[in-house]
Amino acid sequence: MSEIKETARCLIIGSGPAGYTAAIYAARADLKPVMYQGMQPGGQLTITTEVENFPGYPKGITGPEMMEEFKEQAERFGTQVRGGVVTEVDLSKRPFMAKADDGKTILAEAIIIATGASAKWLGLESEKKFMGMGVSGCATCDGFFYRGQEVAIVGGGDTAAEEATYLAKLCKKVFMIHRRSELRASKAMQHKVLNTPNIEMVWDSAPEEVLGDESGVTGMRVRNVNTGESRDLVVMGVFVAIGHKPNTGIFEGQVELDEMSYVKTKPGTTQTSVEGVYACGDVQDHHYRQAITAAGTGCMAAIEAERFIGS
Ligand code: NDP
Repeated sequence: MSEIKETARCLIIGSGPAGYTAAIYAARADLKPVMYQGMQPGGQLTITTEVENFPGYPKGITGPEMMEEFKEQAERFGTQVRGGVVTEVDLSKRPFMAKADDGKTILAEAIIIATGASAKWLGLESEKKFMGMGVSGCATCDGFFYRGQEVAIVGGGDTAAEEATYLAKLCKKVFMIHRRSELRASKAMQHKVLNTPNIEMVWDSAPEEVLGDESGVTGMRVRNVNTGESRDLVVMGVFVAIGHKPNTGIFEGQVELDEMSYVKTKPGTTQTSVEGVYACGDVQDHHYRQAITAAGTGCMAAIEAERFIGS
């Protein structure tokens, strides 16, 4: 593919709530942003069902529909939204350089990184089959749909522990499936989980299959790793909380990353270790991970980019 060189004032990499919010603000500030949507246009919200906690949608909205609206709003002010992937960046000098898989090389005055994080999944066929039909990667997003029901959560870290206690407030019972006999979560979280009466620990157990029918999930088959025995839990929802990984592969060695490979930002800002490069949304946040917090930091990134370009 022949190389096409272009210049852009502001390049946005990623198209979740952070990227689109950055685009809306940058476009309205006349930065004429160019956005590469990345591997999963619309980001993680496109694999959830109903979003009920984003202000402005009193009746709720599906994740994919919401992201279409974000896109429309970003385009309305002149964002160039491109369905491609940025494969390489050079942030060592200005203008910054980014290469995309459409053969274009963009020279940008400022870059906003909004590539998000990807939830880790178990890799079971049945997990994929029931995704959004009872299998979820986010208790805060989807827990509400299982009020009064029995659910399972897989994982033994802080995320799983936090989500289990959140679900326990809404659900009749929560089975917490962990592959070992000891939680990885912090002592305080362990204490909370083990003292919540409607959380039942399912120790030493590996998830084998998500069970279900045309109505969605009906159960979870787990195998005891010591005895090899399988057991079927009757649950209507399965939450997978075995960690996330930030999508920062192309930024390694270019901006400072933390020990978990999230982009490091200066506290209270979206400024990365490189002046003129900003990071917003889940790629720099493993704590809140909400569409609304991602959107908030997207707005911050665009304002900071505008000030940088104008300075
Ligand atoms: P972690 O990597 O800490 O935990 C992942 C859990 O999933 C582990 O218990 C692991 O088991 C289990 N697991 C991984 N892969 C599989 C698999 N294929 N099948 C079954 N189980 C699996 O991820 P978290 O998202 O929980 O936390 C990430 C970081 O964020 C941590 O540093 C955590 O402390 C932090 N965090 C802090 C919070 C807070 O302070 N409030 C809230 C949430 C996260 P095993 O233990 O056997 O490896």
